[in-house]
Amino acid sequence: MTPETNAQSGIEKLMFILEKSGKNYDLEKIQQAYEYAAELHEGQFRVSGEAYISHPVAVAEIVASLGLDTDSICAALLHDTVEDCAERVNLDDIKHRFGDTVMLLVDGLTKLVHLHYADKEEESMENLRKMLLAMSKDIRVIFIKLCDRLHNMRTLDAKPENKRRMTALETMNVYAPLAHRLGMQRIKHELENLSLSYLDPIGYNEVYNDIEKKFGINRNFIEKARAQISDKLTEYNIHFQLEGRVKSVYSIYRKMYNQNKSFDEIYDFYALRIIVDTELECYTALGIIHDMFRSMPGRFKDYISMPKPNMYRSLHTTVIGRDGIPFEVQIRTWEMHHVAEYGIAAHWKYKSGETSSADIDQKLAWVANLVETEQDTRDPDEFLGALKIDIFQDETYVFTPKGDVIALPQGSTIIDFAYNIHSEIGNKMIGGKINGMIVPIDRVLQNGEIVEIITSGTSRGPSRDWLKVVRTTEAKNKIRQWFKKEKRAENIVVGKTEIDRELRHYGVSFTEAQRTEVLENLAHRLGLHEMDDLYNTIGYGGLSVAKIAGKLRDEFDRVVVPVQEAELPTDVSQVQLAAKPKTPHGSVIVDGLDGCSVKFAKCCSPLPGDKLIAFVTKGFGISIHKADCPNIQQKQLSGEDPTRFKAAEWAEGAANGANNRTFEAVLHITAVDTFTLIAEITSALAEMRVSILQMNSQKKNEGEVNITITVGCKNLEHLYSIVSKMRSIRDVVNVIRG
Ligand code: MN
Repeated sequence: MTPETNAQSGIEKLMFILEKSGKNYDLEKIQQAYEYAAELHEGQFRVSGEAYISHPVAVAEIVASLGLDTDSICAALLHDTVEDCAERVNLDDIKHRFGDTVMLLVDGLTKLVHLHYADKEEESMENLRKMLLAMSKDIRVIFIKLCDRLHNMRTLDAKPENKRRMTALETMNVYAPLAHRLGMQRIKHELENLSLSYLDPIGYNEVYNDIEKKFGINRNFIEKARAQISDKLTEYNIHFQLEGRVKSVYSIYRKMYNQNKSFDEIYDFYALRIIVDTELECYTALGIIHDMFRSMPGRFKDYISMPKPNMYRSLHTTVIGRDGIPFEVQIRTWEMHHVAEYGIAAHWKYKSGETSSADIDQKLAWVANLVETEQDTRDPDEFLGALKIDIFQDETYVFTPKGDVIALPQGSTIIDFAYNIHSEIGNKMIGGKINGMIVPIDRVLQNGEIVEIITSGTSRGPSRDWLKVVRTTEAKNKIRQWFKKEKRAENIVVGKTEIDRELRHYGVSFTEAQRTEVLENLAHRLGLHEMDDLYNTIGYGGLSVAKIAGKLRDEFDRVVVPVQEAELPTDVSQVQLAAKPKTPHGSVIVDGLDGCSVKFAKCCSPLPGDKLIAFVTKGFGISIHKADCPNIQQKQLSGEDPTRFKAAEWAEGAANGANNRTFEAVLHITAVDTFTLIAEITSALAEMRVSILQMNSQKKNEGEVNITITVGCKNLEHLYSIVSKMRSIRDVVNVIRG
């Protein structure tokens, strides 16, 4: 079959499924979305050689299987168009053709094409944050994203080894936990098993084969237990369905790994699932099971009266069969079953104009918490940590003195409890009681305890040490919020002291102005406004000096070391300008005057399309910077004579590159080191008729390579198209503008 007919049959199959679903789909709109996406992806191929459109079609099919609506299916079909066909389509086109909702969904699924990321880590963080933000507005974004990731995982074989690992790791760390948190067990299990098979193929196969073998040996026993249970339930007139299943490879692998057990020591890898009509029948069935088999103590869990935070409800018990083989029994109603398989997607009902119900909003409060964490910390590790804690939490249930149940992640302290009740209670807390006894403030809570918080109106607020003790993201955020708001001046002093301590290690002398420049640059790089914000963030615990030490050293070396060695004037950008002058006349208007002799600053290499500012240097003429160039912003803030800054703009014609002048632009490319990489990059540039002025590559460990290319570039738009072309190369991981 040719790729085209493959894709063709894909869409026919999808339309067939939708027609037969009995749901009210707008088939015409879906067909239009398909045709538009197919047209845009025309000529693009997946690594496997298939036509690219086969991917969005497959994603749309998974989306349909979750029971989602017309707009979700359209968005799934269009989800890669804006990112991959940027020259031919933008979000406005999508909005124009398919409406606001589809546009917003596609936007949430489109990666950011910012050019300022310092590294891969920062970029994937920003993209994750963007997606979570979009998801907190419309949950369908994450449903579609999970389907997208699932299909990518199913077809990961085609990718090179290095990318496979990276994708599998990200899936394991981010997407499987998200699916879990949203209660989408079916997708979660498949993502986990697929990821594991790439991350530890040997371990995966071992467990897989062991399961097959053990299942073969015990098949008779399972069948017998099933028949017995079946007979008994029928006897009691219960209408039921009985499913026998082996637990997932990953869940058994994880148990072996976490509890350091051999396969033979894992006993509960069979589960029988009984699905009945009513909640009452669940408990009746449980009684029958416990009557037939001996139950294992401590293994009974009632998730019906106390649902998991991801809305999962079922009764679980582990019993021991007559042959001494233990097995788990899960009992639930059909409705609970549906929620267990599809999670929050099962709850999500499409009504026009209404995207999510209050109930779902409340279930998703943790998303808002996570987004908030990221805004406050700027630390990717902490964000992922919070994601894991909030998602993988095993819960501890405690009571308020009034008897209300509060669920907190295991390991939570009474401080977490206080902040869970209300931020004011946390902020005014001076101590606490458990079951009537006064306990230390960092005491970890146990199931069933009654917790009472002692507050005082004269409390001076939380302590910074609490940040090290608390377990929940919510408490951390609220404590940080307090320090951020109440103690800015104090935070700045704390932050400054910590930075100074770090700088002292360098053993290099520097001026106050250099120090300011370094820290301002660092602040910008971290997405903060100015130096004081950097101090403040360190002060309230949003960033640790240890975490930013590498970047600090980086900025320090850029500003301080070269100047000392060469004993040149302190303005580095001027030095570089003097060394390599380049003076395209007549393209920039400075202070209203055309035809000025200007130099383009090397530190930011402005391109037509960038907003500009002019700076009158001492002895080197007028230098033109990007308006947002950190060097210039630092100069403005540090009290430089304001008359030296002049308004500047591109002359008409120059801004769109009509006068055909070429500028220099620097690109930093991070890529997987392969033999064909350089050839692919250079031939892609040749194909676009872009000249390479300079090229440098540096091998990093772990098979990565950093390439710095200086290219001839007409304007900003041209640069964007070059960047997106570079990004489309298979082994390229990241591209940023230098
Ligand atoms: Mn995709």
